[in-house]
Amino acid sequence: MGQEKIKRPSTPEGWAARVSAVVKAAREIQKLPRFPIDVAAIAQDYSRNVFPDSPITLVEGEKLGTKFEGALVPNPTNNGEWGIFYNSSIKSKGRINFTLGHELGHYLLHRENSSNPIFCSRRDMWAWDSEYGKIEAEANRFASQLLMPPDDFRVQTSEFRRPTLAQFEPLRDRYEVSLTAAVLKWLEITTRRAMIVVSKDGFIDWSWSSPPLLKSGVYFKARQQTIPLPAASLAALGPKAATSEFLHPAGVWNGREPVFESVIFAEYHDMAISLLVYPAEGPNRWSNELDEEPALEDTFERFQR
Ligand SMILES: [Zn+2]
Repeated sequence: MGQEKIKRPSTPEGWAARVSAVVKAAREIQKLPRFPIDVAAIAQDYSRNVFPDSPITLVEGEKLGTKFEGALVPNPTNNGEWGIFYNSSIKSKGRINFTLGHELGHYLLHRENSSNPIFCSRRDMWAWDSEYGKIEAEANRFASQLLMPPDDFRVQTSEFRRPTLAQFEPLRDRYEVSLTAAVLKWLEITTRRAMIVVSKDGFIDWSWSSPPLLKSGVYFKARQQTIPLPAASLAALGPKAATSEFLHPAGVWNGREPVFESVIFAEYHDMAISLLVYPAEGPNRWSNELDEEPALEDTFERFQR
């Protein structure tokens, strides 16, 4: 029987599902747990099997300076081989594994676009909107989907009502990803109104709203404007504040709504990460004329739903 040519996936999600199925089957045969996904091993095995003429033969830490988090590089001797690199100054296993997933995404999706190396910055790892850079967003979607497959991720987060960043720590360990990547994944699928805000030196560097929050018109345009952190926010108070989670009244993060903030300062030494959870339903934008402010208790109650 002639070998049937299997059609290549054309999307990041398609590739992630393809690789994920192979990994899942192999782990079942070996009677090993499915997670975390060991990208360094998979990248080499999978590429050797599927693309024997252009395999990934090197996965290594490399001195990439302060600017780059990872890279996909063709072997300079032009023999068809590829290497993927992560910045050897990074100590977080989760950040390294996510970076390798991102570079494997570039390999599967983009290596044939050009034979030039692709160098990726920390900001590239956070690009989820194609406005920023289409291939970076694609590489992230691939890594996110490969490392945190939706079937398992939904089960793990099914009890999340008003999560704190601390609740994402077990997920970071389960999937061996950065905390930021796990939070972004949840924001992508949740029905809650929530947002991640990454800030530096008192200013918002970038933020990402869940689709329901975005729909109610709550977001920051931090890429276009300079936006200072609210002075009373935990992110602005810094690591010495007495608490790492707090339900702020209306007027701190949002003029009209109380917002539940949790914060960590550890993942990137120079940055604060806040997770903001808003009430289940946003204020009605058409009711501005009503002079009655909603009772505070009612708004707090909405958090419990
Ligand atoms: Zn990249």
